[in-house]
Amino acid sequence: MSHKVLMLPGDHIGPDIVAEADRLLHCLADDFGLRVELEYAHLGGCAVDAEGQPFPESTRALAQASDAMLLGAVGGPEWDAIERDKRPERGLLAIREALGLFANLRPAMLFPALAEASSLRADVVAGLDILIVRELTGGIYFGQPRGIRTRDDGLREGFNTLVYNTDEIERIGHAAFAAASRRQGQLCSVDKANVLESSELWREVMTDLSAQYPQVELSHLYVDNAAMQLVRSPKQFDVMVTGNLFGDILSDCAAMLTGSIGMLPSAALDANGRGLYEPVHGSAPDISGQDRANPLATLLSVAMMLRHSLAEGALADRVERAVEAVLAQGWRTADLAAVGDTPVGTRAMGDAVIAALRAQAD
Ligand code: NAD
Repeated sequence: MSHKVLMLPGDHIGPDIVAEADRLLHCLADDFGLRVELEYAHLGGCAVDAEGQPFPESTRALAQASDAMLLGAVGGPEWDAIERDKRPERGLLAIREALGLFANLRPAMLFPALAEASSLRADVVAGLDILIVRELTGGIYFGQPRGIRTRDDGLREGFNTLVYNTDEIERIGHAAFAAASRRQGQLCSVDKANVLESSELWREVMTDLSAQYPQVELSHLYVDNAAMQLVRSPKQFDVMVTGNLFGDILSDCAAMLTGSIGMLPSAALDANGRGLYEPVHGSAPDISGQDRANPLATLLSVAMMLRHSLAEGALADRVERAVEAVLAQGWRTADLAAVGDTPVGTRAMGDAVIAALRAQAD
């Protein structure tokens, strides 16, 4: 059976980087036996221009019929002034909500050839390979009641609600334990159980779930300590699981250990393994149309898609090895280039990865 993949190029550099993913998937089909059908649809600013909505009905129908989706990036200054619910970024929130994409997987992986690009010492980060699993559709960003009100004494106050129920904790827990089972078998759950009741329940549910995953070693950290450990000694972690707010902050912090925004893939998964895969970076309007975008975060997102939604783990490994090989050979786009390097463009980097992949077939 063929895998159905929906391609959502989006705006600005989105179409350029998704074009490289398209070429990579065709190479995997032609040379490595991947059975895949690609469809294309609009999301974001291009969807507003073409169909009047950032997440049109036509895109929703194709998304629901797909096994996985690959997004470039959405947004740009030309859509900043339009009404709020038509902004490109609303399209992204809407597709996550419509498809129940509650598990955000954010790897932070440092390829040996880029160890000098990190803000931390090379010996602290070389070989870093962490996966942060963040709950994406609950917690304090969505809890009710919320608002800004005026109290009886005239003071205004802003308030939000941090609430997690056992179903929400269990489903993100299962996603994290499953991911840890496929990796080094170490899962660190991050909370603030010494202060917050929602975290107390979180810790209790994670501990109960661990009985179902004897191959995974579960540990717990308070979020303040987790942040400290991430910058002190990040290689101690394999998989971390946490709620929406803590995950938002910790995943950006871990990502920056790798030094470049052009290298970071991500996934948002539903309960059945269908996922939306995308680079962490935005649409980079400042370099759009110049063949300067780094396509590697998008190609690494394809690797995540192969592993997590298409059950093609061996091909995912091949793509990651090809990216590692081109970096070791010295290929650099402008965002990665050091003084003295001659940077290559988006297309040439895509060519290099495909050549490295084909070299594995020989
Ligand atoms: P950005 O990530 O687009 O760009 C930040 C900086 O990083 C820019 O200098 C850009 O040139 C550079 N950069 C980003 N990706 C790169 C790549 N692949 N190769 C080389 N350099 C790269 O963030 P921004 O400028 O704050 O936002 C631009 C637009 O993207 C905004 O409209 C924003 O809302 C949108 N955005 C979308 C997403 C998404 O689609 N998931 C995420 C973040 C921002």
